[in-house]
Amino acid sequence: MSNLRIPGPTPCPPEVLQAMSWQMINHRGPQFAGYLKEVTEGLKTIFQTKNDVFILSCSGTGGLESAVVNTLSPGDKVLGVSIGVFGDRFATIAKTYGAEVVSLKFEWGKAADPDKVADALKANPDVKAVLVTHNETSTGVTNDLAAIARVVKSAGKLLLVDAVSSMGSINLPVDEWGLDVCVTGSQKGWMVPPGLAMVSISPEAWKACEAAKMPRFYFDFLKAKKYGEKGQTPWTPCMSVVFGMTVAIKMMLEEGHANIVKRHERIADMTRRNVKALGLELFADEKYASNTVTSIRAPKGLDGKLINKIMREDHDIILGGGQQELEGKIFRIGHLGWVDEKDIEAVFAALKVALPKAGFKGA
Ligand SMILES: *Cc1c(COP(=O)(O)O)cnc(C)c1O
Repeated sequence: MSNLRIPGPTPCPPEVLQAMSWQMINHRGPQFAGYLKEVTEGLKTIFQTKNDVFILSCSGTGGLESAVVNTLSPGDKVLGVSIGVFGDRFATIAKTYGAEVVSLKFEWGKAADPDKVADALKANPDVKAVLVTHNETSTGVTNDLAAIARVVKSAGKLLLVDAVSSMGSINLPVDEWGLDVCVTGSQKGWMVPPGLAMVSISPEAWKACEAAKMPRFYFDFLKAKKYGEKGQTPWTPCMSVVFGMTVAIKMMLEEGHANIVKRHERIADMTRRNVKALGLELFADEKYASNTVTSIRAPKGLDGKLINKIMREDHDIILGGGQQELEGKIFRIGHLGWVDEKDIEAVFAALKVALPKAGFKGA
């Protein structure tokens, strides 16, 4: 079996894969309602929220789209805070549906500066919502979302959060930080395959939802709420992933969320230490380096794609590459979900052999 070390999809425990093979049942019957309830309650524990949490059948991007179309109207001004590919994507979704996007971009590898967010809100008092990525998977940076949320909420704006690659793995207390819509995806920290997005919706977001005029059908939160009350989803859900999720959530609650967060911290620390010990350089500002994905600068004169190719062909270890302008310039190690120290030790044992083969002469 390959050592799949990309930041999603992530490997799934055998118990989860087994649940994925359960026979189909009535998606509008009592048994499936029980599964939905169980998973939703578990999600609320991990989201640390009393807000509504819905399970949508789509990848994380669908969840981001749902956040936009359910809270905004065409012509609304939004502040799109971006530190990488996914921050840009969130803003593009808003633009696509007719929002007027004020872009606040930061250098890739760096975190967003909460003071600059405050300045942008002062300069644009008519902004209705702020879009921000918690954990920017493309650069391996985790924003100081607590500080950003303080700025945004004290300005009285809606805060829509892409927490696709952090929720479950990095501490993210939705209610304490006042996050209005928070989105995650099943294939990241949740130890299940792709197919589901999970979103939380605050009372303030519900108010915005009533006034929101962006077109929506499949991702309509009001429909999700109406069917949710009956223990159903409006449309046939990705049932096998929900089956898998019942097992994964149970495993996560057994380990305990605080322990999961600590495990991710520990493994990320170990990854960063190993990167430096090899004489390589972290791409992310270390103060904000992500606990779910580590980005590494390709050594001077070396193509990150070649390193990943050797790792794949010689060692059956699958690493992430750089996206867009970072293609070939960085490579990334995913360490979220079902991961322990041994998985990462294997990566570095292989890198010790793969790097010289790629032409790396050492630091
Ligand atoms: C993976 C990811 C997404 C969503 O990607 P999908 O391919 O649609 O699941 C969005 N934001 C971040 C930060 C991600 O890591």
